[in-house]
Parts: sequence; structure tokens; C-alpha cells
Amino acid sequence: MIEEDSAQRQFPCAFCMKAYKRKDHLQRHQKYHCKSLAQRPDFPCKLCPHVASSNFTLKKHLVQCHRNEAPT
Ligand SMILES: [Zn+2]
Ligand SMILES: [Zn+2]
Repeated sequence: MIEEDSAQRQFPCAFCMKAYKRKDHLQRHQKYHCKSLAQRPDFPCKLCPHVASSNFTLKKHLVQCHRNEAPT
């Protein structure tokens, strides 16, 4: 499969080979859909680009930074 119009995609993902035309699409991909992100041993925050080094620090970050928007 040849990637279509890859030359027009100006926002490449730093973690995998995907690229997007729109910055918000790239950011959404990196937050929720990037496979490389999921494969990393880190603990990415689902609410912002922050990446914690452990499950403990991720929970701490969620409480400190997202206590008003944390999912129930
Ligand atoms: Zn990616
Ligand atoms: Zn966060």
C-alpha cells in the first residue's frame, strides 16, 4: 500500500510513522491512538500530553492537574 498524499501531511507523529494534515488530528492521535505511545513503558495521561514515569505518578498527576475533569 502506498500512502496517499503523504507529501501534503505537515504534522508527522514523533512516535510512529503516521502524519496528519491538521495539528489537532495529530494531537488527538498522540493522545489516544498512537500505537507507539501504548507500547512505551511510560504512563501517558489521557487528558493531556503529559507522560508519567509510573502508575503512581500518573495518578498523582491526574489528581493535581485534572481533579476537575477526571472521569468518574
Ligand atoms: Zn503516532
Ligand atoms: Zn494530564
